Amino acid sequence: MRIDLHTHSTASDGTDRPAELMRKAGAAGLDVIALTDHDTTRGYAEAIAATPEGLTLVTGAELSCRVDGVSMHMLAYLFDPEEPALLAERELVRDDRVPRAQGMVAKLNELGVPVTWEQVERIAAGGSVGRPHLASALVELGVVPTVDAAFAGDWLADGGRAYLEKHETDPFEAIRLVKSAGGVTVFAHPAASKRGRTVPESVIVEMAAAGLDGIEVDHMDHDLDARARLRGLAKELGLLVTGSSDYHGSRKTCVLGEYTTDPEVYGEIVRRATGAFPVPGTGGV
Ligand code: AMP
Ligand code: ZN
Ligand code: FE
Ligand code: FE
Repeated sequence: MRIDLHTHSTASDGTDRPAELMRKAGAAGLDVIALTDHDTTRGYAEAIAATPEGLTLVTGAELSCRVDGVSMHMLAYLFDPEEPALLAERELVRDDRVPRAQGMVAKLNELGVPVTWEQVERIAAGGSVGRPHLASALVELGVVPTVDAAFAGDWLADGGRAYLEKHETDPFEAIRLVKSAGGVTVFAHPAASKRGRTVPESVIVEMAAAGLDGIEVDHMDHDLDARARLRGLAKELGLLVTGSSDYHGSRKTCVLGEYTTDPEVYGEIVRRATGAFPVPGTGGV
């Protein structure tokens, strides 16, 4: 069984439409794929309709969180997408992305980059707008050679010259909200240090006590040392360990199924969830 529990579509900052993503996942030989767009469930309907036979879709989202000034991502699986409190929080974060991205465009203009909001809007194409869309705009304008370079330099990275914060949820609140909506939480890429400051272990300990279900260990942004350390921590705290590609289509170099999750861990996630069931593919459209 090949299980990839973290992917993005055009509903946020991936480059494949949800239907395309499901077809590619089937063609890549995956058995299970989770759709985890940033702060939105808007890709679900199209993904569900297009999931091919032999592939099972796990509905999810990647929630933008911040604790003690450190931004982090919380994966949430199989929650009820209609549950009002979690829905309201997702909308708050997603909607705040628009003025924030507009503010970042203004900052880039001040830095002499002729990017426009119309350009970013076209690239985001209705998806939950984020820095990767701005990064693509910078690539189009020839300011940087690649999306990654827009983060590696002093442009869009946390604290960079064109960076602005957005509203982000307290992760303890996220855990509570997701649980109330019947979902399961997994702290995404907790040791991705190239993205900026990471959350200290002491806070992961507190999250585990607050009901966090697992941590993502096998991820492209974790080196072998980080994975070994996180595996040890998970064991100590009784947390589930996942692995996933964090696929973004052509916006990142990773491929579908590059890292995968153990079938037993997947089974446990499904057992714990009460908000939604995995959706077996029916042949697609
Ligand atoms: P946003 O949610 O708009 O703040 O953008 C966050 C997204 O930007 C993440 O999900 C990543 O896809 C991307 N990102 C953040 N930091 C980096 C980095 N250092 N290198 C490449 N991509 C990054
Ligand atoms: Zn992303
Ligand atoms: Fe993430
Ligand atoms: Fe992601």
